[in-house]
Amino acid sequence: MKLTHDQIATIEKNSEVTLYPKRGIALAKGKGIYVYDTESKRYIDCMTNIGVTILGYGNSDIAKQIAEQLETLTSTHQSFYSEKRAEALSEITSVLPETLSKIIFTNSGAESVEAALKLAMTATGKKKFIAAVNSYHGRTFGALAATGQEKYRTPFLPLMPEFTHVPFNDLTALKKALSNETAAVLLEPIQGEGGVIIPDKNYLKQVKKLCSEKNILLIFDEVQSAIRTGTWLASEQFGIVPDIVCLSKSLSYGLPFGIVAATKEIADLMPKGAHGSTFAGNPLACTAAAAVIKYIQKKKLLKNADVVGGFFLSQLKTIKHPIIKEVRGSGLMIAMELTVPSTMYIKKLQDLGLLTIPTAATGIRFLPPITFKEKDVDAVIKIVREVFK
Ligand code: PMP
Repeated sequence: MKLTHDQIATIEKNSEVTLYPKRGIALAKGKGIYVYDTESKRYIDCMTNIGVTILGYGNSDIAKQIAEQLETLTSTHQSFYSEKRAEALSEITSVLPETLSKIIFTNSGAESVEAALKLAMTATGKKKFIAAVNSYHGRTFGALAATGQEKYRTPFLPLMPEFTHVPFNDLTALKKALSNETAAVLLEPIQGEGGVIIPDKNYLKQVKKLCSEKNILLIFDEVQSAIRTGTWLASEQFGIVPDIVCLSKSLSYGLPFGIVAATKEIADLMPKGAHGSTFAGNPLACTAAAAVIKYIQKKKLLKNADVVGGFFLSQLKTIKHPIIKEVRGSGLMIAMELTVPSTMYIKKLQDLGLLTIPTAATGIRFLPPITFKEKDVDAVIKIVREVFK
């Protein structure tokens, strides 16, 4: 069956709860850094499904491994051991800081945050958390309680557990908010949905110091910032290791997958049965995750994200227009902040064959695959220049 764009759109409009504003095109396939719509129009993908398809599309090395596993075994409950799960664990723990040696598998970013909150509660016996204003941690109830954006929270108040939100990058505000009842501070080291906000060089180090002094755990949500900023964890660049880290999105070639990594001391205090998920740790997604990590290492793609990201940022900075307020980024996590809402400009870029995403109300976010080359940046810049000429 081959449906046209209009048929697809009609079925979705009629039968799906519309949770997201639609972008007006139906994507049919991907190859390398490009996606194609049902009319075969090609787009450079600087959206990657909000940071998911970090290796682009049609990678036969990885697809082959996933396909083989698909024929062998797709689902294995966690009450059984699984070779593929063990392989994923070995790969994941080999690239994470040594202290973050214990993993909980999840299926999404929000679920990773949920599990992290539970880990912090069971490890400390406390229930209060501090997170940042403008943060985004997901939309399940715990993750939503953590999210510091009223537009997502308000319809569902009151939310549990108890969260206080403080301005990001403001140590004084954080100091004031901490108490003996605080279980953990939860932060994105670089805020993704909040505008690609990079904190001052020493902020996270000082947060870590403050938490350590007061026996409060530090959780980093690196669901968006991992890998694409040029190191496995963006927090490595700030010289700190959290007590718990949440990952998802980019790890598994587009299959639903996530993890929480914690220290052994924290993990040992989590009672059996305190968390669980039928799909989590399935051998299919685990095969993908192990393959993705090995591929990134083999092709030295962290270095590529760093180098090409630097080039991307420098090129974007050459585009001058009265409504361009600032361009900022780390590796291949980049935003152009405008003085006006960005939606219309994102639409114009899409019409010219470039997919980007909003960040905050006035930002255009670029999250390309980490396989991006300088010539791909040149192609992007040409389109952006056209829109802001
Ligand atoms: N945390 C961060 C930092 C995110 O960027 C996101 C997704 N944008 C999430 C959590 C939630 O992930 P998911 O949509 O997979 O639940």
